[in-house]
Amino acid sequence: MLNSIVDTLLPTTMVGSYPRPHWFTYQLHGRDIWEAFKDVNHAEAFEDAVRTVLQDQEQAGLDILTDGQMWFDDYGGCIGSFVWYWYERIHGFVPTKHSHPFVEGGQVSHTDAAWLTDWGATAVTAAVERGPLRLADLYHIAQRNTKKPVRCSVGAGPVNLTYHVHLDYYKTQKDLAYALVPVFNAEMKDMVASGASFLQLEDLGAWLPLFSGNPDDFGWVVDVINKTIDGVEAKLAWHFCFGAAWGNASQGLFPSGAGYGSILPHLHDTGIEQYVLDFAVREMEDAHILKDLPADKEVAVGVIDVRNLQVETPEQVAERIRKVLKFIEPERVTLTTDCGLRALPRFCAYNKLRAMVKGAQIVRAELAGR
Ligand SMILES: [Zn+2]
Repeated sequence: MLNSIVDTLLPTTMVGSYPRPHWFTYQLHGRDIWEAFKDVNHAEAFEDAVRTVLQDQEQAGLDILTDGQMWFDDYGGCIGSFVWYWYERIHGFVPTKHSHPFVEGGQVSHTDAAWLTDWGATAVTAAVERGPLRLADLYHIAQRNTKKPVRCSVGAGPVNLTYHVHLDYYKTQKDLAYALVPVFNAEMKDMVASGASFLQLEDLGAWLPLFSGNPDDFGWVVDVINKTIDGVEAKLAWHFCFGAAWGNASQGLFPSGAGYGSILPHLHDTGIEQYVLDFAVREMEDAHILKDLPADKEVAVGVIDVRNLQVETPEQVAERIRKVLKFIEPERVTLTTDCGLRALPRFCAYNKLRAMVKGAQIVRAELAGR
């Protein structure tokens, strides 16, 4: 039985991050939020920024909100904090930016080398141990500023965090991923204890077996995800897109022709209820893979292209939704953005959300008239 957070057909939401309001320029620089927030100016500005991005989403008409990840610093890749927030606060990683191991290995294209260098990498030099990540407190700050439900981003995940690391302590990515499981599991359980009912794991580790070229890796990746969510009593989603760096997909890293169809069938054996996938960037051309989704899974489909400044029209969004509904019933579909919106100007981000809401209204009306 699938859990619903709101009583709406085709509910609308967005993935993770949102543009910072221009006036919010404070940086955490690796600090515990409770160290940074001793400065009352920072504490007030942070909560005001969270309230602002929640209000943008409410005004756009979203059904389920996110906090916009105002805890991301202005790092490389635009959302480099997606991994650095964790590296800076989990003991065992060094805080300094190193060259990227994929680039040193010479196995990536010129374009991918550029963005990987921009993100940088850390090194793991000791056993990893949970530090002051405070995801439950960040959830609490968001939820007390809105009456609408908040979906909590938990990202990057334990497998994803093994991509941008020099392995000086653990021998393999697999060893590091397993070592990180208790950190994520504890954060997620704390969020649920604080009242969070909808958690979205953002772990692009789903793609790892394509990068390693070893299909056996699906087994341990699925096991890591299951151990990560073990005992977490909430609706659980899993986001893995084609990457986002300054609004670019990292498609060059993928074997040619590879896509969701190459990995999804190997990932279903988890307690994850909802996959959160990008489709708009390809104009939904591979939406047919959703017809094979098992009955205990649902999907949040990206119907807004976050890698493009062009604001969609509501009709364009409606057409994307119709393409999806050819393959899966609307009761198992949530509407979302392809990925976080942070690389976009706030004007574009806000108006893309409005277009999504209006597109959803068009299709809901059509369904009501069936
Ligand atoms: Zn994404």
